Amino acid sequence: MEEVRSLKVTNELGMHARAAGKIVELANRHGTTLFLKKDGREIDGSSILSILSLACPKGAEIEARAVGKGAKKFMDELEKLFKDKFGEMATGQHGPRRRLLKGFSVSPGIVIGKAHHLAQSKAQVFHRRLLDEEEVESEINRFKRAVEMAKEQIRKFKSAIPEPVEGYAFVLDTHSMILNDSMLFDSTMQMIRKEKINAGWALEKSVRNIHQLFREVEDDYIGKRMDDVDSVSERVLQNLEGVEPDSLADLNEEVIVVAHTLSPCDVAEINVDYVHGILTDVGGRTSHMAIMSEALEIPVIVGLERASDVILEGDILIVDGNTGEVIVNPDPDTILSFGEEIKRYANYKSAIDRVRHLPAETLDGHKITIKANIEFIAEAKAALESGAEGIGLYRTEYLYLIRNDFPDEQSLFEDYSQIAKMVAPHPITIRTLDIASDNMISDKEATKEDNPALGLRSIRFCLKERKVFKTQLRAILRASIYGNFKLMFPMISGLEQFLEAKRILRSVMRSLDREGIEYHKEMPVGILIEIPSAVSIADILAKHADFFSIGTNDLIQYALAIDRDNEHVASLYEPFHPAVLKMVHQVIESGKKEGIDVSLCGELAGDPLAILILISLGLEEFSMNIGSIPLIKKMIRMLPLRKVRQGFKDILELPTSKKVEDFVLKKANELLPDIFEEDVFRYRTPGTA
Ligand code: PEP
Ligand code: MG
Repeated sequence: MEEVRSLKVTNELGMHARAAGKIVELANRHGTTLFLKKDGREIDGSSILSILSLACPKGAEIEARAVGKGAKKFMDELEKLFKDKFGEMATGQHGPRRRLLKGFSVSPGIVIGKAHHLAQSKAQVFHRRLLDEEEVESEINRFKRAVEMAKEQIRKFKSAIPEPVEGYAFVLDTHSMILNDSMLFDSTMQMIRKEKINAGWALEKSVRNIHQLFREVEDDYIGKRMDDVDSVSERVLQNLEGVEPDSLADLNEEVIVVAHTLSPCDVAEINVDYVHGILTDVGGRTSHMAIMSEALEIPVIVGLERASDVILEGDILIVDGNTGEVIVNPDPDTILSFGEEIKRYANYKSAIDRVRHLPAETLDGHKITIKANIEFIAEAKAALESGAEGIGLYRTEYLYLIRNDFPDEQSLFEDYSQIAKMVAPHPITIRTLDIASDNMISDKEATKEDNPALGLRSIRFCLKERKVFKTQLRAILRASIYGNFKLMFPMISGLEQFLEAKRILRSVMRSLDREGIEYHKEMPVGILIEIPSAVSIADILAKHADFFSIGTNDLIQYALAIDRDNEHVASLYEPFHPAVLKMVHQVIESGKKEGIDVSLCGELAGDPLAILILISLGLEEFSMNIGSIPLIKKMIRMLPLRKVRQGFKDILELPTSKKVEDFVLKKANELLPDIFEEDVFRYRTPGTA
């Protein structure tokens, strides 16, 4: 059955994105195949982009052709939609609410689609209610039941977790652990009992107390773990109220999900066929939700602050997960230009994906080694899939931060042996504990410091808390037989400190020998060079270390006296500062002289401009965030190394960061025009230079 009609666009704004969205939605609802024709050109009426490409202003005449069983009925409704001006009111009254929102991109990619709100119980406000004496026990039981239900729900999510995020099942275990945690569970029960208040109010109060406690923790990573506490308590609150939260598993159309926040359980339910993007008001780059959704390869922007208020159900959105921008109800021209951008990005992605498993070998045959920085065991798989030739930095803090006591040797051993097996035969550089003493939740008051970045942290903490240090070293040594470990001590500022750390390592080795426990006796032991004093004496340290890895994140912070997490001085954090480049160079030269390996594992390694400088300075091994690996590999494979070194030979003479950046940008355009003309910076990982 076919039905053809002439339709006139009568609304003020013409056939804009929202109108086009309504046409597509109507055709989908009727199961009708629709074609729209204007000026002799016929397009597919099921594509918003194609409809917009007709560029129909007010007054335009088009021919609509519907094919399918209910074509006539569909056409009647379509005609009505045109006559009703697509629901648009007179000028000034409505007009598409066009706006631009800016957040933090945590997973790249660009999509255009329709907004769908994930209804959450966040709007729910619990009022304080005083209980009668006889109500107290039943309220406690009600709370316990809500907690049990939450545990059961989490168990279910875990058993149905999709394959790409399987490795993150441990996040859900963490949620179960939080439910059992006395700071949440016992304190809520105590409050119900002592203050005789309702469970919802008591739980919210406990969460507020934990927030208060965490607020004093300066570490961004721990701060973000509050997301986990929030999402767990939210689930319990929902159970207390008998609220059935919206589930992403129920979706049956393609959408961009908009929510105040998403929990890892929500992500565990995502069907990637329907969820094409995620936007949240809150959340940071290191939230579990963010890390998991990156594994699903869905563009995600967090920290949009008011997205869930500003965006309405059904709004058309452009989500640019490369820049962190969201355009709400864009005009047709913007949609068309993003259509082009989507194609460009897809080309870029397929070009870099093709090389990700090829060696990072320069045009003139020099082999460069590219490894990944990871924080969780689950990231190891993603790292190898992105083409990493090993793990150049395994930050081992996670197991310490999710609990309020120190992990025992066995749980550390299990984690380390598992990752060793996963990554073997590739190497893993395992870094010993790098936290500040006030990160440990217990006994916070006793350890509070005015200036934690310069305080008792990292190796200094380990050398003081010998038992904690030895437990970790034992676990690492025991796991070393399952893979290819290198051991790295962070924040070494002087020789004596490094020798002391090695003495402790040897004493742990001796005790394992006595117990007849096997370990890799020749495991290389190196230094994370990230303090200027270590740079100055790199020639001395090199005589005692098996390798150096340069940690530019902290090295820049300490060299320029710029707090790396302080947004007020963020513009002064200059990775291309001549002092930084000279320091990197000095470390490379000192390492070379003693014949030890020197690599670099700061975020700088994943920056396409920085990598040119670093290679020119003589580095041949890098460890970087997983997302940067394919692009950096592609660049390296196109680089004539000799020409780079020749062209950059005077880089250390340049007097300012700006001059360095201008110089590199110019050279980059000459050396790799295909890559840099494509404006790859739009795609580079946030947080780098
Ligand atoms: C560094 O400081 O450069 C580094 C690699 O370690 P982190 O970012 O964990 O401090
Ligand atoms: Mg560091």
